[in-house]
Amino acid sequence: MSSRTPRVAIIGAGFSGLCLAIRLRETGAGEPTILEKAERLGGTWRENSYPGAACDLMSFAYCYSFEQKTDWSRKWSPQAEILDYMDHCAEKYGILPHVRFGTEVLGARFDPERGVWQLRTRCDGGEETLEAEVLVSGVGQLHRPVPPGFPGLESFAGVQFHSASWRHDVPLAGKRVGVVGTGASAIQLVPEIARESGRLEVFQRTPSWIIARGDRDYSEAEKRRFTRHAWLAKIYRWFIWARQELLFFPVMLGNRGLSKRLEQMARENMEAHIADPELRATLTPDYPIGGKRVLIHDDYYPALARENVELVASPIVRADVAGLVTEDGRHHELDVIVLATGFDTTRFLAPMRIEGREGRILPEEWKDGAEAYLGLAVAGFPNFFMMYGPNTNLGHNSIIFMIECQADYIVECVRRIGRRGLRYLDLDPEVQEAFNRKLQRDLARTAWARTPKSWYKDASGKITNNWPGTTIAYWWRTRRPRFGDYREVR
Ligand SMILES: Cc1cc2nc3c(=O)[nH]c(=O)nc-3n(C[C@H](O)[C@H](O)[C@H](O)COP(=O)(O)OP(=O)(O)OC[C@H]3O[C@@H](n4cnc5c(N)ncnc54)[C@H](O)[C@@H]3O)c2cc1C
Repeated sequence: MSSRTPRVAIIGAGFSGLCLAIRLRETGAGEPTILEKAERLGGTWRENSYPGAACDLMSFAYCYSFEQKTDWSRKWSPQAEILDYMDHCAEKYGILPHVRFGTEVLGARFDPERGVWQLRTRCDGGEETLEAEVLVSGVGQLHRPVPPGFPGLESFAGVQFHSASWRHDVPLAGKRVGVVGTGASAIQLVPEIARESGRLEVFQRTPSWIIARGDRDYSEAEKRRFTRHAWLAKIYRWFIWARQELLFFPVMLGNRGLSKRLEQMARENMEAHIADPELRATLTPDYPIGGKRVLIHDDYYPALARENVELVASPIVRADVAGLVTEDGRHHELDVIVLATGFDTTRFLAPMRIEGREGRILPEEWKDGAEAYLGLAVAGFPNFFMMYGPNTNLGHNSIIFMIECQADYIVECVRRIGRRGLRYLDLDPEVQEAFNRKLQRDLARTAWARTPKSWYKDASGKITNNWPGTTIAYWWRTRRPRFGDYREVR
């Protein structure tokens, strides 16, 4: 085949899909089409509009490095502002004409003879097919809400919804509200709805380590300064990034001194607001700090100390028509149940069916736990790449950093396919195997491995979500593809 510009089908218009489309357009390496099942872009930041939703990494580091926003309203900016930022990027870089909204990818099949992916999509109630030389998944790790593990919710007569599908039409003022879960979303939304609700019960299965974040508005003078001196905003960004790398990453590895210091900060945060020793004990995790996501918030503990709020630590056994029943035999009558129960994180591409060479199917190939090479490629699935794929989540720094590394790597692969007129690039299975052997050895040394359950692990206990190194190590590994890792077929 002669040199050409490959068509690149990208699934999902979140930070990943948007970033890759921007890079492809800028470099001219490939012709992007983003297929997005929803009617607008944003991914995580479109779906999670619950009260108090915000990033938990400081905003100056939670945006693209090539489009540094300088006038963030707060240190940890709210969801709506992040979504506006994404709209701005799509507009500025001319991405919207390349997005097909309302188009869900059901599956894709690779034709090795032609070097083409055939995609099956659902849009306007019907099915369509589409072809592209390169297929990229940008479906994220946190987009399929997971229902709680107890039975009976269908019989509940009140209103129930997941935190990622917030019912803004349901007023909570004066209502009896139950929040199921005490993870990252719950600690952001509880303080907001505690002010409104008549009575709020927070159902905790596992407590989290929570440190104070010291959030505040940026002053107009600060915003002006960052905008006038863009270099200052860049320095600030890299300062945040370096602090996360140097102070937080070692905690994930179980560094004794830093873990002790962070744990002390979390205890002080709790003790500043919770006086009752029994409640303090209930709120103290029994796993090492860093074993699950370390949460940051200023208002969660003060909210729990409010008169109208109760923390319920007895496990929920079932829901019924009037509310929730806990193991201690209590019946909790509720008008609204908010499921802050997180996401189905370990099945990655599900429910899509991606069919590679020789009848290999994802996610069936991953029945023993998802794995990839650098989270980007899987042997037997030529010209297929993932962004924010297996083992690329972080416990300590910005996912956008990882996404940018992945976009640049994929652009180089697309360029190679185009320039050399390749039918396909297919990862060497031995490279994938060796990479994952080493990866799992590295993961075994982390605080995540010493924590029995978390969203980083699948049911068998394999850590399928997290990257065990620094972000700089990931950048180093991905800064340029080693094409010797791939079989090139013309
Ligand atoms: C509440 C919350 C807060 C977070 N805060 C932070 C933070 O502070 N810092 C941080 O680094 N990370 C954070 N994250 C992680 C966050 O998910 C990533 O930072 C980033 O937004 C992931 O972007 P993405 O494009 O890979 O995936 P997503 O944002 O999940 O986007 C995936 C897109 O794919 C679409 N899609 C899925 N399946 C299909 C299909 N079959 N066909 C078509 N379209 C499909 C979805 O509709 C969605 O638009 C947070 C996550 C959550 C849930």
